[in-house]
Amino acid sequence: MATQVIVVDDDPIVGNLSLELLKEAGLSAVLIQDSLKAQAAVKAEKPELVILDILMPGIDGLTLLHRLKTDPETAGIRAIIVSGKSFEAEKTRARQYGAELFIEKPYDVDSFGKQVAAFLKPSGADAPRQAVENLPSLPPPARADLKLSVWGCRTGTAGPATGAAASRYGWRTPCLSIELEKSLMIFDAGSGIGPLGDELRKNPRENKDLWLFLTHFHRDHIQGLADFSCARDAAYTLNVVGTGEPHKSLEAMLAEAFEPAFGAEGPPCRIELYEVIEQTYEILPGARLTAFFSNHPGATLGFVLHAQNKKIVYCPDGEVYGEAATALQDYDEKLGGLIRDADVLVHDGRFTDEDYKKNRNSGHSSFMAAVDLAGHNKIKKLLLVHQDARYDDNELDRMAEAAEARVAERGYAMKVLVGREGLDLNV
Ligand SMILES: [Zn+2]
Repeated sequence: MATQVIVVDDDPIVGNLSLELLKEAGLSAVLIQDSLKAQAAVKAEKPELVILDILMPGIDGLTLLHRLKTDPETAGIRAIIVSGKSFEAEKTRARQYGAELFIEKPYDVDSFGKQVAAFLKPSGADAPRQAVENLPSLPPPARADLKLSVWGCRTGTAGPATGAAASRYGWRTPCLSIELEKSLMIFDAGSGIGPLGDELRKNPRENKDLWLFLTHFHRDHIQGLADFSCARDAAYTLNVVGTGEPHKSLEAMLAEAFEPAFGAEGPPCRIELYEVIEQTYEILPGARLTAFFSNHPGATLGFVLHAQNKKIVYCPDGEVYGEAATALQDYDEKLGGLIRDADVLVHDGRFTDEDYKKNRNSGHSSFMAAVDLAGHNKIKKLLLVHQDARYDDNELDRMAEAAEARVAERGYAMKVLVGREGLDLNV
């Protein structure tokens, strides 16, 4: 009997269970655990149906689905996604890529086999098999520029209120936005998020679904939530992505952050929470996000965003050791693997080399170590942020000059910018 169903699942327990249930339902099925071998096997066997998991080492199920459906030899094979990763975005994407059914894991053991068998059984004389031509067409690969804007990028609490002089670089704490074609992504909610919210209310966007990625809950990264006017507007949805601490969930941490301004009830806007771990997520059709843990006190994330054929990394708090690394300090290497070839790296460059020596192991980098890290890893543009609040404009100007000199001296093919409020980059 020819193989009717190929199941691709890296998890041997779930994979073998699926196989068993399909056989009980009278279907001939095989399991492939190595996703990298799946495409060739589907081509060779030409089954009627493939059942794909999404999160697999090697190639993920949605990419595999896309490849099968765009290869004329396999495009007519029907597909079901069976996955525990069931964000609405995944389901939409699965449909767009040609899957006819999305079954959430854990699935119902009693009905799974029957459900698949019924799906395969022709209903009526002319089984309505969805022709490839009728599949919703994929959006064309986006090549439009992304707009990255800095709303704040300083550390600490200096500024005019504390008697510090005005600064061309600004005193607001971290908040950066990245404008995709249809969505706005906001990174951190330092005091810079206040003016961003005001701008959004002045020039309202059609899409009131905002994404907020929080690296961590140190005060300078959340202190702007109280002044974020979109949070006061019930028309907005705030999709908050972040991580909790081992003893406290993201939900509890966020509630605490909102409490001083909004009380125990929280803000009027709608909030959707995504507590993430170190992993890659499909957050919107065409936008992939890798969260990773950064070298900084407490649970702190950095983010790699892949969207519109661009790669942008946001890691404002994290200590790279540079030339001072010991054999046991492999963080620079880990980070290097994540950031390689990025179009933009936004990185912690808090200290001058001299001040770094006095502040080793504080969880922040010297800007020169950040320059070398970016240069070694073939970054196109490095944006240094989280400048120490004790530095005046002259010090920051010197920092920019020294960084440029280093790039020339080491022959890095890279542009370095020192972050300042109001800086816009087209990526
Ligand atoms: Zn911090």
